Amino acid sequence: MTIDVGNAVVQIGRGPTGTALARQLLPGMPPGSRYVVIDRDPASPRLAFGSPEPTHLINTRAAKSSLNLGDPDEYERWVTEQAAAAGESVTEFPARYWFGRYVRDMFDQAVKEATAAGVTVDVVTDEVIGVRPGSGVRWQVECAGGQIFPADRVVVGIGMLPQPEPYPEIMGAAGYFTDPWQLPEIAPDARVAVLGTRLTAVDTALTLAARGHTGPVLLASRSGRLPRLRGSESTAPIPHIEACLGRAAATGALRLEDFGRALMADIEAASAEPVDWNEVRDGGPTTRELLARELAEVDAGIERGWQRIVNGASPTLLPAWQLLVEPDRAEFFEKWLTPLLVHGAPIPAETARRLVAAMDAGRLRVADGLREVRHTDDGFAIHHGGTIEFADVVINATGAGTDVAALRTQPLLAGLLDAGLLSAHPLGGVHVNVSTFEALDAAGNPVPGLHILGDLIRGAVLVTNDVIALSFQAVLLATALRTNDEEGVRLS
Ligand SMILES: Cc1cc2nc3c(=O)[nH]c(=O)nc-3n(C[C@H](O)[C@H](O)[C@H](O)COP(=O)(O)OP(=O)(O)OC[C@H]3O[C@@H](n4cnc5c(N)ncnc54)[C@H](O)[C@@H]3O)c2cc1C
Repeated sequence: MTIDVGNAVVQIGRGPTGTALARQLLPGMPPGSRYVVIDRDPASPRLAFGSPEPTHLINTRAAKSSLNLGDPDEYERWVTEQAAAAGESVTEFPARYWFGRYVRDMFDQAVKEATAAGVTVDVVTDEVIGVRPGSGVRWQVECAGGQIFPADRVVVGIGMLPQPEPYPEIMGAAGYFTDPWQLPEIAPDARVAVLGTRLTAVDTALTLAARGHTGPVLLASRSGRLPRLRGSESTAPIPHIEACLGRAAATGALRLEDFGRALMADIEAASAEPVDWNEVRDGGPTTRELLARELAEVDAGIERGWQRIVNGASPTLLPAWQLLVEPDRAEFFEKWLTPLLVHGAPIPAETARRLVAAMDAGRLRVADGLREVRHTDDGFAIHHGGTIEFADVVINATGAGTDVAALRTQPLLAGLLDAGLLSAHPLGGVHVNVSTFEALDAAGNPVPGLHILGDLIRGAVLVTNDVIALSFQAVLLATALRTNDEEGVRLS
């Protein structure tokens, strides 16, 4: 069935990225134009902000999570008001479901205002399975339910993709669960191994603790590193980074070695104690002692140098990434991606307190060197470091994937890759023009009217895992679209 939407924008996904974009574009649409938003399930418990579990807290302070860059306090105000109306009180790190509700509320408001201004907005609940060039129209967007929407401009903001199965040989084995967000009943004394040590794995440990699980829980990954703890939002000066980027901008090229040296110099200048760089880069598994010590520091308000520099330097990462020469980008991913994620996506103290309590009760451990998981007669054999441990239950909490195999899990992306209209980025996601967010085809040419935002462009822009960076992408795209049309959003 073809629905005539005239000259239309079709936006796929209405999570934080899609909502930030709709709030940018809709107010600029001329009366009479049409905007279609398609999402398969914007409140799914599988989404970061869909979890109904009250111990799954937002990892970025409410005061730093506005979807509206022009109104940085918007989310904090919203959640304070909404929680008060519901007779609840929230801390500076509210449960993440509050943020999910905020996103949906902001989306509904944007649609209401646009509709009142004469824009027709179609909000569709369905999965997009194909985006193809149309005849007489630039694009045709096909949904699983059979609807086809013609579009002049398509924006894909579908968030994180599932990681391809890390151990296909245990797929289907009783006790192996691939969806940490929809765990079935698990015997409370079962030995559980959680694959992964990042945010999804932390959530899984919290889910088990909230269920009163008494059996041992092992979080295992190659690095064995849990996220660090989020301290204050204070920043420290970054003179070395600024000077380094100034020089790189003049020559148009940044070397990783130079940026690394500048970053280290700024962190050392901001730190009261000497910095152990081996620990920062290759630190072993997170121990109870490490976590408890960091918790004590954060509770005491002790400023950590690295945190103040991460806070201060985060706006420089996008320009730095663009200036970084190509071979050095690959080297960065190889050597520094884990330290970046460990330090750049930290968890609140309250989350760490729950993890330490589970460790103190002898119910939680973290292991590094994860090599293999096998299904045996004694349960699952978890090979890590030089040891083998056995578990009754294994939960895959390895989180998001961005390589070609992950892209191909989505029919929408597989079709575009097969048609040569998308090209996989070697560092994750797909190639885009970073000024217009237009996809680059297999020959490296921009694909007019096909824009990609969010985690799908991680290789191109590096930071895609927080709502401020994603809101910034939405602003940049809206600005690019408006540049050539003073009257509103350029549609063709
Ligand atoms: C455990 C965890 C905790 C996190 N905590 C935080 C945090 O505290 N703060 C923070 O800033 N970031 C956090 N993040 C990162 C977070 O995922 C992103 O900031 C945010 O969710 C990304 O928003 P998005 O709109 O790009 O993607 P999503 O939130 O994933 O939204 C994408 C939307 O696209 C829809 N969709 C997908 N495919 C299709 C399709 N084919 N057809 C139709 N619709 C489709 C989905 O239903 C979804 O609604 C966390 C991530 C994880 C994994």
